[in-house]
Parts: sequence; C-alpha cells; structure tokens
Amino acid sequence: MTLSAQFVATNGVQAEAWSRRALPPVDRVRDGVWAVPVPLDLPIRFTYAYLIDSPGGPLLIDPGVAGPTAQAALEKGFAEAGLDLRGLQGIVVTHYHFDHWEGADELAARTGAWIAIGEHEQGWVDGLRDEELTPEAAAARFRAHGAPEAHAVAFAGVEDYRFTRDRAAPAHRLRDGEILPVSGERLRVLWTPGHSPGHICLYDERRELLFSGDHVLPRITPHVALNPFGGDDPLGQYLDSLEALLPYAHAEVLPAHEYRFRGLRARIGQLKAGIADRLDEVAAATAADPDASAWDVARRLTWSRPFESFETPSQRMALVESAAHLAHLRARA
Ligand SMILES: [Zn+2]
Repeated sequence: MTLSAQFVATNGVQAEAWSRRALPPVDRVRDGVWAVPVPLDLPIRFTYAYLIDSPGGPLLIDPGVAGPTAQAALEKGFAEAGLDLRGLQGIVVTHYHFDHWEGADELAARTGAWIAIGEHEQGWVDGLRDEELTPEAAAARFRAHGAPEAHAVAFAGVEDYRFTRDRAAPAHRLRDGEILPVSGERLRVLWTPGHSPGHICLYDERRELLFSGDHVLPRITPHVALNPFGGDDPLGQYLDSLEALLPYAHAEVLPAHEYRFRGLRARIGQLKAGIADRLDEVAAATAADPDASAWDVARRLTWSRPFESFETPSQRMALVESAAHLAHLRARA
C-alpha cells in the first residue's frame, strides 16, 4: 500500500479538537479555501462551512444552521480569511439536513447570494405533499414499520418535513457531473445519494479537494434511513455512491463534520466493511423470522446502548436505519 492510500488526518489541530470535543479554529486549507466551524447544538457540535475566495465573489459550501451564533461564526471566518461577507456570490448546499442548509435562506436574503442544491434533492423536496406531511400520515408510516401505537405517535412528533418543504427555492439545481457555473473555478458536481436522496459532493479539479458533505466522514458512519417518498433502497444507493467516489481517491477530503483527511479509498473500504457486518447482523436477526418488521429488527440489533433506552429522536433514527438495512437485504434477495 502506498502512503497516499492510507487513511490519515491532514489537519492535526482539527483532529485533536474533535477528540477533545472542542470547536476547532478557522482553518486555511489552501490559498483561497477555508474551513469555518459553525457551532451546532447536537453531539457532532459543528458543521464546517467551506469558504472559497472565487474571482466573482466568495462561495460558501454548507452554511450551517441559522441564528446569531452561527452567523457570528461565519462572520469570524470571513474576517480571518480577509473576505467581505456582503460580497458573497453563492451558497452550495450538499443536502437538505438542517445542520447544512438552515442558514442559507437568511444569508442569501442578507447578501443577495444565489443558492444551489442537487436537482435530485430539490426534486425530493418538490415532491413533498401536504397530505403526506400530517402527523397522522407520519404515524401511519411508523406503524407500517411495526412500531407500537404510542411509539408511532411519538416518532411522528419528531419528524416534520414541512420545515424542509418551506425553504426558499434554490436558483440553481445542479446535475450530476456538471461544472458549477462559476467563473474561475472548476468545481464538479457529484450526485451521491444515500444519506439523503439528492446529496451531492463537489470535486475541486484545480486544487484536488473533495467536499464530501455527510457522504464520507472520517469516523462516523453516515446515517442512511428509509426516507418517506425517497427511493426503495437508499442503502444500495449509498454503497453505489461510495464506489462512484473511487476516481477521486487521490483527493484530500473536506467533510462537513469531524476533520479533513486523505486516504479516501481506505475510508470507503472501512465504511463498506462496517455496513456488510451490519447487514450480516440484520440477516441473522431475521433468519428465523422472514416477516420481521423494521421495529423487530431494530430491537434485536446491537446499538451503542440498549434500543429501549434511546430517547424518541434516536429511537426513530434507529428504526428508519434498520428499515433501510432490511429494505436493502430484501432488494438484493
Ligand atoms: Zn446530513
């Protein structure tokens, strides 16, 4: 194995901050590229907003959450980079999850910047229908996964896609393989569905940097759920999307959380091996019970702590993740 094929954190300060559970400093990745940690009230603690000093004005990839704390973090990032936030040209969002997208609207309103997102992600949002987004409809979906009534109602209470539907429509819907329409840059759009239906990564051809969003992170295995109104086999899509990144294995990876790294091929190998182990566990859990529901499977799998002890949001995530594994096994059978 050559050195470049090994997994290695490329910024010790970021990796060390991650292990201390601290917020890392603004990081100058290259000439003209900065990683700005935007605080987040979740165990992952922050999202990296990537700032690119482009000839037509700065670009931001994933602005993070909304609100004054996040805005102050972005302002600090711009100041350290010596750039003017008011000149912001455009915002690219890798996927609709609130910790990546939420700040985009207010930032665009404040600066006049355009917003761009993958065409499949926006297509998913456009497909959301009022009648399917009621708590009653959501509870029915959780009952169909086998959740008992009280749990189905509780899960419906923490799942609200109306928030996603009501975001401002993006100016650009990015197609797989296209070059972002920004002069002076060579940023290629890569559709990488799985973690969300229309997740995109961006490959910076000039600097050989891969902005990987939540698709590939150095430590965490991204959550892959059976999303309502999404594809039937998101885990299959996720595995295919990992393969699709292998042509970029030489790149340094700039993820939306944790820390930057090299060794994408090795990391993809780890992720695939972990998923294969999990699928084996799901297959074992259903071997004696071919009609097991996702709820049955979730209760039988090993989690970081007992499934029954999870709070409602974590239990919902464990359920829809189990559903995605079950759907993949059944799609492959
Ligand atoms: Zn996400």
